[in-house]
Amino acid sequence: MKPSFMGILFLASSLLCGQERVTPQPRVVDPGGAAKPPSDAVLLFNGKDMSGWHTLTGGPAKCTVADGVMSCRTGAGDIISNQTFQDAQIHLEFAVPYMPGQKGQMRGNSGVFLQSCYEVQILDSYQNPTYADGSLGAVYGFSAPLVNAARHPEEWQTYDIIFRAPRCGADGKIAQPGSATILLNGVLVQDHAPIPKAGPGCLQKDVCRPGPLRLQDHSGFKGAPDTTMKFRNIWLRKLDQ
Ligand code: MG
Repeated sequence: MKPSFMGILFLASSLLCGQERVTPQPRVVDPGGAAKPPSDAVLLFNGKDMSGWHTLTGGPAKCTVADGVMSCRTGAGDIISNQTFQDAQIHLEFAVPYMPGQKGQMRGNSGVFLQSCYEVQILDSYQNPTYADGSLGAVYGFSAPLVNAARHPEEWQTYDIIFRAPRCGADGKIAQPGSATILLNGVLVQDHAPIPKAGPGCLQKDVCRPGPLRLQDHSGFKGAPDTTMKFRNIWLRKLDQ
Protein backbone atom coordinates (compact mmCIF):
# COMPACT_ATOMS: atom_id res chain seq x y z
CA MET A 1 0.00 0.00 0.00
CA LYS A 2 1.33 3.44 -0.90
CA PRO A 3 1.75 5.82 2.00
CA SER A 4 -0.58 8.80 1.92
CA PHE A 5 0.64 12.36 1.63
CA MET A 6 -0.55 13.10 5.21
CA GLY A 7 1.32 10.05 6.43
CA ILE A 8 4.59 11.24 4.91
CA LEU A 9 4.04 14.69 6.45
CA PHE A 10 3.41 13.18 9.89
CA LEU A 11 6.54 11.02 9.63
CA ALA A 12 8.73 13.96 8.58
CA SER A 13 7.51 16.25 11.37
CA SER A 14 8.00 13.50 13.95
CA LEU A 15 11.59 13.03 12.86
CA LEU A 16 12.27 16.77 13.01
CA CYS A 17 10.68 17.19 16.44
CA GLY A 18 12.75 14.35 17.77
CA GLN A 19 15.98 16.10 16.93
CA GLU A 20 17.73 18.37 19.44
CA ARG A 21 18.54 21.66 17.79
CA VAL A 22 22.20 22.40 18.41
CA THR A 23 22.54 25.99 19.67
CA PRO A 24 24.98 27.55 22.12
CA GLN A 25 23.66 27.31 25.64
CA PRO A 26 23.64 30.36 27.91
CA ARG A 27 26.32 30.45 30.56
CA VAL A 28 25.01 29.38 33.96
CA VAL A 29 24.93 32.09 36.62
CA ASP A 30 23.75 31.55 40.17
CA PRO A 31 21.49 34.60 40.60
CA GLY A 32 22.22 34.94 44.32
CA GLY A 33 19.61 36.61 46.48
CA ALA A 34 19.18 39.21 49.18
CA ALA A 35 22.65 40.56 49.99
CA LYS A 36 24.15 37.77 47.88
CA PRO A 37 25.44 38.86 44.46
CA PRO A 38 25.24 36.72 41.31
CA SER A 39 28.02 34.17 40.99
CA ASP A 40 29.81 36.04 38.20
CA ALA A 41 29.73 39.44 39.91
CA VAL A 42 32.83 41.36 40.89
CA LEU A 43 32.52 42.48 44.50
CA LEU A 44 33.53 46.11 44.83
CA PHE A 45 32.89 46.28 48.57
CA ASN A 46 33.57 43.24 50.70
CA GLY A 47 31.57 44.51 53.70
CA LYS A 48 34.59 44.19 55.96
CA ASP A 49 37.09 46.89 55.02
CA MET A 50 37.93 49.52 52.41
CA SER A 51 40.59 47.45 50.66
CA GLY A 52 38.69 47.64 47.36
CA TRP A 53 38.78 51.44 47.32
CA HIS A 54 41.16 54.35 47.43
CA THR A 55 41.15 58.15 47.29
CA LEU A 56 41.54 60.15 44.11
CA THR A 57 45.21 60.58 44.92
CA GLY A 58 45.75 56.88 45.49
CA GLY A 59 45.73 56.94 49.29
CA PRO A 60 43.67 54.72 51.58
CA ALA A 61 39.94 55.48 51.56
CA LYS A 62 38.85 57.25 54.74
CA CYS A 63 35.36 55.79 55.04
CA THR A 64 34.69 53.53 58.01
CA VAL A 65 33.17 50.05 57.91
CA ALA A 66 30.95 48.34 60.47
CA ASP A 67 28.33 45.59 60.16
CA GLY A 68 28.74 45.37 56.39
CA VAL A 69 28.11 49.09 55.92
CA MET A 70 30.51 51.70 54.56
CA SER A 71 30.06 55.16 56.11
CA CYS A 72 31.60 58.13 54.32
CA ARG A 73 31.56 61.45 56.13
CA THR A 74 31.95 64.87 54.58
CA GLY A 75 35.62 65.61 54.17
CA ALA A 76 36.61 61.99 53.54
CA GLY A 77 36.80 62.86 49.83
CA ASP A 78 35.57 60.99 46.79
CA ILE A 79 36.54 57.34 46.68
CA ILE A 80 37.16 55.16 43.65
CA SER A 81 37.09 51.42 43.24
CA ASN A 82 40.25 49.47 42.44
CA GLN A 83 38.25 47.73 39.71
CA THR A 84 37.78 49.45 36.38
CA PHE A 85 35.11 48.71 33.81
CA GLN A 86 33.25 49.84 30.72
CA ASP A 87 29.92 48.17 29.96
CA ALA A 88 28.53 46.82 33.20
CA GLN A 89 25.55 45.91 35.33
CA ILE A 90 26.04 47.68 38.64
CA HIS A 91 24.23 47.20 41.92
CA LEU A 92 24.60 49.25 45.07
CA GLU A 93 22.57 50.13 48.12
CA PHE A 94 22.72 53.45 49.88
CA ALA A 95 21.14 55.48 52.65
CA VAL A 96 21.16 59.27 52.70
CA PRO A 97 21.04 61.13 56.03
CA TYR A 98 17.99 63.02 57.22
CA MET A 99 18.87 66.71 57.03
CA PRO A 100 15.61 68.67 57.50
CA GLY A 101 17.50 71.93 57.98
CA GLN A 102 18.77 71.81 54.40
CA LYS A 103 17.10 72.13 51.00
CA GLY A 104 17.66 71.04 47.42
CA GLN A 105 21.21 69.96 46.61
CA MET A 106 22.33 70.74 50.18
CA ARG A 107 20.40 67.74 51.53
CA GLY A 108 22.14 64.37 51.64
CA ASN A 109 24.03 64.41 48.34
CA SER A 110 26.41 61.90 46.81
CA GLY A 111 26.65 60.24 43.44
CA VAL A 112 27.77 57.17 41.59
CA PHE A 113 30.18 58.12 38.85
CA LEU A 114 30.23 55.47 36.12
CA GLN A 115 33.72 55.11 34.73
CA SER A 116 34.50 58.01 37.11
CA CYS A 117 32.93 60.25 34.49
CA TYR A 118 29.13 60.05 34.39
CA GLU A 119 27.22 60.76 37.60
CA VAL A 120 24.10 58.88 38.56
CA GLN A 121 22.84 61.24 41.22
CA ILE A 122 22.31 60.26 44.82
CA LEU A 123 20.27 62.87 46.66
CA ASP A 124 17.58 63.00 49.30
CA SER A 125 14.74 63.61 46.85
CA TYR A 126 11.96 62.65 49.25
CA GLN A 127 9.73 65.75 49.34
CA ASN A 128 12.78 67.80 48.44
CA PRO A 129 12.42 69.38 44.99
CA THR A 130 15.42 70.54 43.01
CA TYR A 131 16.24 70.81 39.29
CA ALA A 132 15.03 67.57 37.74
CA ASP A 133 18.26 66.45 36.09
CA GLY A 134 20.00 66.80 39.43
CA SER A 135 17.53 64.75 41.47
CA LEU A 136 17.74 61.16 42.66
CA GLY A 137 17.62 58.85 39.66
CA ALA A 138 19.03 61.45 37.27
CA VAL A 139 22.01 61.02 35.03
CA TYR A 140 23.31 64.31 36.31
CA GLY A 141 23.12 67.10 33.77
CA PHE A 142 21.81 64.82 31.02
CA SER A 143 18.58 63.12 31.92
CA ALA A 144 15.91 63.64 34.59
CA PRO A 145 14.39 60.47 36.07
CA LEU A 146 11.12 59.21 34.59
CA VAL A 147 9.55 59.23 38.07
CA ASN A 148 10.54 60.13 41.62
CA ALA A 149 10.87 56.77 43.38
CA ALA A 150 12.79 58.10 46.39
CA ARG A 151 12.38 56.56 49.80
CA HIS A 152 12.49 58.54 53.03
CA PRO A 153 16.03 59.53 54.08
CA GLU A 154 17.84 57.02 56.30
CA GLU A 155 15.99 54.15 54.62
CA TRP A 156 18.05 51.81 52.46
CA GLN A 157 17.58 52.32 48.72
CA THR A 158 18.88 50.42 45.71
CA TYR A 159 20.32 51.28 42.35
CA ASP A 160 20.53 48.73 39.54
CA ILE A 161 22.27 50.25 36.55
CA ILE A 162 22.88 48.88 33.06
CA PHE A 163 25.67 51.01 31.68
CA ARG A 164 26.74 50.97 28.06
CA ALA A 165 29.89 53.01 27.87
CA PRO A 166 30.50 55.53 25.10
CA ARG A 167 32.95 54.46 22.42
CA CYS A 168 35.51 56.79 20.92
CA GLY A 169 36.85 57.15 17.41
CA ALA A 170 40.51 57.35 16.45
CA ASP A 171 40.49 61.05 17.37
CA GLY A 172 39.65 60.19 20.98
CA LYS A 173 36.22 61.82 20.78
CA ILE A 174 32.98 60.02 21.45
CA ALA A 175 31.78 58.46 18.20
CA GLN A 176 29.06 56.29 19.70
CA PRO A 177 27.20 57.71 22.71
CA GLY A 178 26.75 55.56 25.78
CA SER A 179 23.52 54.90 27.63
CA ALA A 180 22.21 54.13 31.08
CA THR A 181 19.16 52.13 32.05
CA ILE A 182 18.47 52.48 35.75
CA LEU A 183 16.13 50.98 38.32
CA LEU A 184 15.80 52.92 41.57
CA ASN A 185 14.24 50.84 44.32
CA GLY A 186 13.09 48.44 41.59
CA VAL A 187 11.36 51.20 39.60
CA LEU A 188 12.51 52.16 36.09
CA VAL A 189 13.83 55.72 36.22
CA GLN A 190 16.09 55.76 33.12
CA ASP A 191 15.35 53.83 29.94
CA HIS A 192 18.42 53.86 27.69
CA ALA A 193 19.15 57.46 28.62
CA PRO A 194 21.84 58.68 26.21
CA ILE A 195 25.26 59.68 27.52
CA PRO A 196 26.56 61.86 24.69
CA LYS A 197 29.69 63.38 26.25
CA ALA A 198 31.72 63.69 29.43
CA GLY A 199 29.47 64.62 32.33
CA PRO A 200 29.94 67.41 34.87
CA GLY A 201 32.65 66.40 37.30
CA CYS A 202 34.25 63.90 34.90
CA LEU A 203 37.77 63.13 36.03
CA GLN A 204 38.90 61.12 33.03
CA LYS A 205 40.66 62.75 30.09
CA ASP A 206 40.02 59.72 27.94
CA VAL A 207 36.27 59.38 28.40
CA CYS A 208 36.15 56.04 26.61
CA ARG A 209 38.84 54.33 28.65
CA PRO A 210 37.73 51.81 31.29
CA GLY A 211 37.35 53.62 34.59
CA PRO A 212 36.51 52.92 38.21
CA LEU A 213 33.27 53.42 40.09
CA ARG A 214 33.51 56.65 42.04
CA LEU A 215 31.39 57.62 45.02
CA GLN A 216 31.01 61.33 45.53
CA ASP A 217 31.76 63.30 48.66
CA HIS A 218 29.60 66.35 48.02
CA SER A 219 31.80 68.78 49.92
CA GLY A 220 34.92 70.78 49.36
CA PHE A 221 33.04 74.05 49.02
CA LYS A 222 32.27 76.78 51.54
CA GLY A 223 29.23 76.02 53.65
CA ALA A 224 29.12 72.32 52.78
CA PRO A 225 26.92 70.64 55.39
CA ASP A 226 28.19 67.76 57.46
CA THR A 227 26.86 64.64 55.76
CA THR A 228 27.45 60.95 56.30
CA MET A 229 26.49 58.69 53.42
CA LYS A 230 26.09 54.94 53.87
CA PHE A 231 26.68 52.23 51.27
CA ARG A 232 26.52 48.46 51.21
CA ASN A 233 26.34 45.52 48.78
CA ILE A 234 28.22 47.08 45.88
CA TRP A 235 29.01 44.81 42.94
CA LEU A 236 29.09 44.78 39.19
CA ARG A 237 28.99 42.35 36.30
CA LYS A 238 31.14 43.24 33.36
CA LEU A 239 29.14 43.06 30.13
CA ASP A 240 31.86 43.66 27.57
CA GLN A 241 33.83 40.46 27.99
MG1 MG B 1 25.79 64.34 43.66
